[in-house]
Formats: sequence, C-alpha cells, structure tokens
Amino acid sequence: MTDKTIIDAFLPYDTKVIFDTKEKNLSHPNTMRCKAIYEDGTVLSKRYISLGGGAYQEENKNYSPVDIYPFTTFNGMKEYMENEKIDDIYELIERIEGKDIFAYGNNLLLHSFNTIEESLKTKDVLPGSLKLTAVSGEIYKKAMENGDETEKRIMLLTAYAYATAEANARGMEIVTNPTCGSAGVVPAVLYYEYKMKNQSIDNLTKAYLVGALICNFIKENASVSGALLGCQAEIGSASSFASASLSYLHGLSLYQIEYAAEVSMEHFLGLTCDPVDGYVQIPCIERNGIAAIHAYSACLYSKNIAPYRKNRVTFDTVIQAMNSTGNELPSDLKETSLGGLAKFVV
Ligand code: SF4
Repeated sequence: MTDKTIIDAFLPYDTKVIFDTKEKNLSHPNTMRCKAIYEDGTVLSKRYISLGGGAYQEENKNYSPVDIYPFTTFNGMKEYMENEKIDDIYELIERIEGKDIFAYGNNLLLHSFNTIEESLKTKDVLPGSLKLTAVSGEIYKKAMENGDETEKRIMLLTAYAYATAEANARGMEIVTNPTCGSAGVVPAVLYYEYKMKNQSIDNLTKAYLVGALICNFIKENASVSGALLGCQAEIGSASSFASASLSYLHGLSLYQIEYAAEVSMEHFLGLTCDPVDGYVQIPCIERNGIAAIHAYSACLYSKNIAPYRKNRVTFDTVIQAMNSTGNELPSDLKETSLGGLAKFVV
C-alpha cells in the first residue's frame, strides 16, 4: 500500500512511484528519493529516510525532535521521580507536558477504539497478492458465544488485535501504536479492559500515555523500526507499551510496571521481520493477536511473580540487548521479505 498512500498524499499532482530494489549503499533500508518536476522543467530532488512509527528525516541531516523530558531511560525516569518526589508516572507526564496532553492521548485512544469497532464490522478480502480474508468480526462473534471463560477472553483479545491489524492492511487510517505493523497490540488490551472490565476512558487514557512514554525509551535508545532491528523492535515494543499501560491501569508499582515492560520485550528478543510477499499481513496480523495475549500475560507475571523474586533484567538492559541483537540480524530478516517465512511461504 506504500505506492497508493504516496500517490493519494500528493493528489492532485500526478505522481509515479518506482520501487528500486537494486540501489545499494543506502544509509538506511527505508529510503525514498522524492523528485519534483516543475512546469518549467526544473527538477528538485531530495532523499528522505523513514525511521519507524511515522518519524522521518532528510538524508544526512540529524533527526532532532525537541526533547521535552529531562531523561531518556527508565532508570533516568525513576531517579527524576525520586528527586522530584513524584510517585505516579501520569502525574510526571502531566507536570512535564502540561494538562493538554490528556486531550491528545484521549483523541488517539478513541481513534484506536473506533478503528477496532469499524474493522470488526468489515468483511472483505484484504488488498494484495495474498488474498487474505478479514476474520476479526468472525473471531469476535465466536468468542462472544464461547462458554469457556478463558477461551472467550483469549479470543476477544485476538479479535481486537486482528481488527486493527486488518484495518492497517486494508489502508484505513490507524494510530501508530508505536508503528503501523504492530498497531493492534496496545488498542486490543485497552479495549478489552474497557469492554470486559468496565475501565473508564479517563483511566485508560492515562494508562495509554504512561505506556507511550515507556515505549519512547525504546525509540530513544534503539528503534521501533522492523527495517532496522527486526520485528522485535516493532511487536516487542508494542508489547512493552501495552503491558506497561495495563500494569499502570491495574495500579501496580513503578517496579512492577518496569517488570512487565521488560518481560514483554525479553521474550520477543530475536524476533525476525519476514512479511510474506512484502505485505504487512502474514505473519503480522496473527502476530498482533499473539502479542496482545503475550502483553497481558507479562502484566500478570509482574503482578503475581514480582512480589516473590526480583527481576534481574532491567528495562534499560533489555533495550540494549534488543538493539544489539537487531544490529546482528542479517538484512534478509529485516523487512526485505527475502528470508524467514517470506522465503518459504508461497
Ligand atoms: S513481521 Fe515485520 S512487517 Fe510484520 S509486524 Fe513484524 S516488523 Fe512489522
């Protein structure tokens, strides 16, 4: 859908998209050269690179978003909170960002929930060569009729995650939580809490923003881009985001929030990115479902295991490990569709 999206974005200008798989010596695997041809024949050409989750920069220029927070790690955040005598992460966010951050987070969360609801109602064949049928609505209906409570809850999480992932695959506007490919995980667990546990939208919004801040430490110290570090960077980050949000929502301690976010990433370390035929569908849609269940489990591990044994791995350490593992992965396993499943599934 990359070509269609670019052509739509440049309307009404006549745009042509050319995929160049031969160009070597790129500083980044996701590079786009934009060439604008003016009526008088002047040509303007610039290269941009996509950093993941909507961030981009002009090639050879620094990516320098304004730093708002005086820390970039979980540990740094803990120290700051201790020094400033703040014991609630949302309070910290509001103090640094201002009260308007609530409306911003609320808008994104409601958009994410709306995507789930719309997508559950949509029955179609997803665009692209794989001809996958969208199934989130069917999974949802079956789950609601299921008499087994455990099965019902696992399948509801799955249906919600599939709904967003299928919406992304069909080109609907989705919130990058934290990327398009992994956008189903966070909304799935929070929508589940909204529907099945009657959590208020206010509390869900605060939890959503807490998870986002913690996920941003991954962006600061590694990357959330599958093209750079493999699927661990996308789906692992989404799982850390989701389990940190959930743990905050469930009133767990700062240590337990860190525990949940760490466990989520730790057990996705090494996860490769191998989308079949270049579409964010196989294994991506199913992977969002599995990751939603995984994130929920990580929160439960933290809640039930943390009181008895201290976690030896910190969140900052697992980010370092993910970064190093991702850099060692061969490029065939980083969004190129040349290795892994993409090589074997026809
Ligand atoms: S396999 Fe690749 S494209 Fe699919 S969700 Fe993971 S990182 Fe994204």
